[in-house]
Amino acid sequence: MSDFDYDLFVIGGGSGGVRAARIAAGHGARVGIAEEYRYGGTCVIRGCVPKKLFVYASKFSEEFEDAAGFGWQVGDRHFDWERLVDAKDREIARLEGVYRRNLERAGVEMFDSRALLEDEHTVRLLSDERRVRAKTILIAVGATPNVDPALPGGEHVITSNEAFHLADFPKRVVVAGGGYIAVEFAGIFNGLGAETTLIYRGEEILRGFDDDLRSALHEEMENKGIRVLCGDVFTSIEKAGDGSLLGRTRQGAALEADKIMFAIGRRPNTAGLGLESAGVEMSANGAIVVDAQSRTNIPSIYAVGDVTDRVNLTPVAIREGHAFADTVFGGKTWAADHSMIPTAVFSQPEMGTVGLTQAEAAAGHKSIDIYRARFRPMKHTLSGREEKMLLKMLVDADTDKVLGVHVLGPDAGELVQVLGIALKMGATKADFDATMAVHPTAAEELVTMREPSERLRA
Ligand code: FAD
Repeated sequence: MSDFDYDLFVIGGGSGGVRAARIAAGHGARVGIAEEYRYGGTCVIRGCVPKKLFVYASKFSEEFEDAAGFGWQVGDRHFDWERLVDAKDREIARLEGVYRRNLERAGVEMFDSRALLEDEHTVRLLSDERRVRAKTILIAVGATPNVDPALPGGEHVITSNEAFHLADFPKRVVVAGGGYIAVEFAGIFNGLGAETTLIYRGEEILRGFDDDLRSALHEEMENKGIRVLCGDVFTSIEKAGDGSLLGRTRQGAALEADKIMFAIGRRPNTAGLGLESAGVEMSANGAIVVDAQSRTNIPSIYAVGDVTDRVNLTPVAIREGHAFADTVFGGKTWAADHSMIPTAVFSQPEMGTVGLTQAEAAAGHKSIDIYRARFRPMKHTLSGREEKMLLKMLVDADTDKVLGVHVLGPDAGELVQVLGIALKMGATKADFDATMAVHPTAAEELVTMREPSERLRA
C-alpha cells in the first residue's frame, strides 16, 4: 500500500492542469485535481473564449456598414448587451461541463476547492480542511490581473475578469494598458458602440511585437474612432454620485468614463499558496522557477502554465502539462518547445505573428531582406472602407531562411497558424516562392513578393 493518496495532485483546473491530469490518469496514475473557481480556467471562463465571442459580436457594426457597398440595405440596428452576455454565459457553461466530463471520464477525482501547499507532498483543501498526500504535485494556478494598489481611486476600476459580466453596457470606456488584452478590449468596446479611449504608459502599443505592425494597428484603431493616448498614465480616479468616473492623467488629461478597465499585465497566482512552506523557489515577480521539464527546485513539485511566466498562452500551458504527464507518468520524456510560437492578437484589424520581429532579426543577423506589402483588401474596394492590410516577411539574406512573418488584417490569426508550420520546418524564401498562389486572396502576397522593400546589412 502506497503512503500517498494520489500519484499526482494538480492544483488548478485550467488549461495546463486539466491536460496534465487527464494525460497522467490515462497513463494509469491515481490523480486528484482542485479548482477554486470554475473548471476550464482563465482561457475558457474569462479569457480567450469569451473574449473571442465578444470580438465576433463587436465586428457586426462594421459588417452592417460594409454591406451597403455590396447592394444590401440593412434596416434598424439595435445591440442588446444582456443577450450577448447570456449567450456567452451559456456557451461557457457548456464548455465547463465538457471539461468536467472529460476529467470524470479519465478517472480524475475533482475537488471544488481552493488548495494550498503544506509541504512537499501535502495539499490542504480549504472547502473541508482535508489534507491529501501526493507523490507528485503539479502547480497550475495561472495568473491574475494586475491593478495599481497605489493609485488613488484604484478601487473603482475593473479588470478583464469583470468586463465579461457588466450589468450594463458602458457608453464611455477607458482601457488602461497597451498589451494584447487592452488592445483587444478597446476594439470590443468600440465595435459595440462605446466611446473608447486607450491610455498606455509606453511609447507605442503592443511592446514586443514588430514595430511596423504596432504603428499600423495604432493608426487603424484611431481610424475606427478609438482615441489612443500613448506616453500617459492615470494619476487618480474619482467617482461621482451618479457612478461616473473621472480619471486624471500625468499629462493633464481628464478622462470621463462609465467604466475604466485596467489591463496592465498579469502576475502569477502564487500569493498565499504556501510555496514558502514547501520551499519552492520563486522569481522576483512571484513566478515559480522551473527547468525545461517544468521541475521546480523541490523534486516532488512541478509547475506549468502562466504561473511559471514563460510564454503565457493557452496552447503553451496545455503542451507543458502534456509533456510533464508523459515524462513523469508515461515513460516518454519530452519538453514543450518554446521557440517559433505563432500567436494572434484579436485586435481590429487582427494581428498574427510568428518568428522574429525586425528589431530581433536585426540584432541577431548580419543581413536581412525585408518584404513588405500594405494594400487595401479586395473586400474594401466595394465596401469603401479605408482599412489597409500589412504583410511583412523577414528573410536572412545569407541563408534565405524566413525568420519571421507578421500579418495585420482579416483572419491574420488563421493565417499565421499555417505559416507557423512552414517556419517551424525551416522554410526559405525560395520555398515560399515555389508555392503556387491561391487567387484571389490576400495571403497570395506572401508567395508573390519578389523584391525586398528594404535590405539591412551589418
Ligand atoms: P489558468 O487557465 O489561468 O488556470 C488556473 C486555474 O487555477 C484557474 O481556474 C484558477 O481558478 C485556479 N486556481 C488558482 N489558484 C488556485 C488554488 N490555490 N487552488 C485551486 N485552484 C486555483 N491565451 C491564448 O493563447 N489566446 C488568447 O486569445 C488569450 N486570450 C486571453 C484573454 C484574456 C482576457 C486573458 C486574461 C487571458 C488570455 N489568454 C489567451 C491567456 C490564457 O488564458 C492563459 O495563458 C492560460 O489560461 C494559462 O493556463 P494555465 O493553466 O496556466 O492557467
